[in-house]
Amino acid sequence: MVEDNVMDLVDKGLMLPLMEEFYTIQGEGYHKGTAAYFIRVGGCDVGCHWCDVKESWNAETHPPTAVDQIVDHAAKYSNTIVVTGGEPLTWDMGPLTEGLKARNLQTHIETSGAYPLTGIWDWICLSPKKNKLPEGEIYEKADELKVIVYNKHDFIFAEEQAAKVKEDCILYLQPEWSVREKIVPMIVDYVMQHPKWKVSLQTHKYLNIP
Ligand code: SF4
Repeated sequence: MVEDNVMDLVDKGLMLPLMEEFYTIQGEGYHKGTAAYFIRVGGCDVGCHWCDVKESWNAETHPPTAVDQIVDHAAKYSNTIVVTGGEPLTWDMGPLTEGLKARNLQTHIETSGAYPLTGIWDWICLSPKKNKLPEGEIYEKADELKVIVYNKHDFIFAEEQAAKVKEDCILYLQPEWSVREKIVPMIVDYVMQHPKWKVSLQTHKYLNIP
């Protein structure tokens, strides 16, 4: 049972349920190939059936951790910090990102946009999910839109989402890993026919790194 004062600090974003943190290479999207420190925050109720981090869903299984401690760790490893989940916007990202910016670190977020945008971000990767569509404001702020393609209908969903982002938002189609052999050729064809899109692959999985 988490104590009330800890719950209060989590509510204020001063503590976050930390699932894991690690220094690796960003494998996906615009910054792929860049060394970055990942902060994976627990908690997500979006419920994607193909989710590859289902262990993140239940926030109660991840220890509430002071954001000052998370910032101290991150600053030792990299100038580029990627906050991911779970769904990080479940929580108030203000205190964490203020701490990271106070150290002059680049703040990147990977989010489904299912909850209102909080925090100070240098790069927003919006990866919307059909189960729980993004809240309005994030469409105008997203720097990249990354749509995971699991089946043919996801191309229609991708176009619907692309119609909502700003003009210079970079558009990616990424195969869901478990069906990549079937989906990659479909994405290749689609991108050649609709070149406003680019292909994103989970290169970290091919590299066998986290
Ligand atoms: S939004 Fe992300 S973490 Fe949440 S269920 Fe979907 S893939 Fe998993």
